Amino acid sequence: MEITLSPLSPSFSKTFITSLYELKDGERIRTCLQCGTCSGVCPFGYIMKFPPGKMIGALRAEIFDQVIKADSVWMCISCNACAAFCPSNIPITSALMTRAKEEMLLAGNIPSELQAAMENTQRYGNPLGESPRKRADWTAGIQPEVNILSKTRQPVEVLWFVGDYASFHSRMQPATKALAKILNALGVKFGILGTEEFSDGDSQRLAGERGLFEMVAHKNGQLFKKYKFNEIITTDPHAFNAIKNEYPALGIKYPVRHYTQFLFERLEQLKPLMKKEIKARVAYHDPCYLGRVNGVFDEPRALLTAIPGVELVELSHQRMNSLCCGGGGGGMWLDGFQWEKAHTRLSEWRVREALTVNADILAVACPYEPPRFEDAAKNVDAGGQLKVREIAELIAESMEG
Ligand code: SF4
Ligand code: SF4
Repeated sequence: MEITLSPLSPSFSKTFITSLYELKDGERIRTCLQCGTCSGVCPFGYIMKFPPGKMIGALRAEIFDQVIKADSVWMCISCNACAAFCPSNIPITSALMTRAKEEMLLAGNIPSELQAAMENTQRYGNPLGESPRKRADWTAGIQPEVNILSKTRQPVEVLWFVGDYASFHSRMQPATKALAKILNALGVKFGILGTEEFSDGDSQRLAGERGLFEMVAHKNGQLFKKYKFNEIITTDPHAFNAIKNEYPALGIKYPVRHYTQFLFERLEQLKPLMKKEIKARVAYHDPCYLGRVNGVFDEPRALLTAIPGVELVELSHQRMNSLCCGGGGGGMWLDGFQWEKAHTRLSEWRVREALTVNADILAVACPYEPPRFEDAAKNVDAGGQLKVREIAELIAESMEG
């Protein structure tokens, strides 16, 4: 799709470059070697009219308006692989791609499904368009009752930021319950924000909606102020990334960990509770915003290998070189658009990798992934042999013994 824009000012590229320089490490863009590494590691680089290296070339040639008119920027799922492997340490994902998406939004060049997710976030506080009143419905029937802070106002050890997909998505709710069961078994005094919680906003930010991100971040920040807790844990690596790396710049500063880090710290307490064997070859998928962006590689693996019977096998793309599930940075809301362009899905590539190493289970630690990978497995030969499980689900299952 190429859209018609009213003529951009001749100085557009220069203005755009100046705005990049104002971002953290943005001025490093001048050190680009045009080596092509970023475009090579980009999972969709082969299909983009302007993969990242070529975008920088377009900036230098002052023809960046052509990038804005084309739609290949929307093939970027903010996986951060380009930035991680760039020899000049250019913040390609956080600066260049995100700023380009902001310009695309301003120019009205936005796929309709992404637009709907943004409007849902604005209207309902979550991109799924679910009623905020249903955010704590997953807690029904759990004993002891989950502490919803707006009701009890009790001080807690841990504020569990549950997040959008873990709260609302029917495939994720069993995994969310599983984590509640584990926290209860460990005697953790935790509470949730329940119906008050807003989207963490990180994927909206990466998809170019900085204003929306700041709006939900401030709303969550006001909630954090209301309650007493020692630290935050998150189900979602994107929420973890937002609260750890982005909220502090808005004055919202709290200690935060992903739940796998929190459980890893209690592994010796957890081990005797896991009695049932799960005899399976388990491949672990590193989520981009847990592994590559925030360096959490070992804790999820340690949790998996502590489960009796589990044999951990590694995928060909692993750790820093992990392959995105396709859901990050707005990818969750661009499936139709990306399918139209690529006629393939990254989640299907990942399922094939898991089958190649004869995995029985693909273990994940991000709420975007169980629905994505289960759906992908339906379209891959022999995909029916592969189960997809959140790490919390596997631990809770082992505790049933
Ligand atoms: S990897 Fe870095 S230095 Fe190489 S082309 Fe891409 S942005 Fe430029
Ligand atoms: S963030 Fe990932 S998808 Fe986006 S340009 Fe970089 S490598 Fe490609």
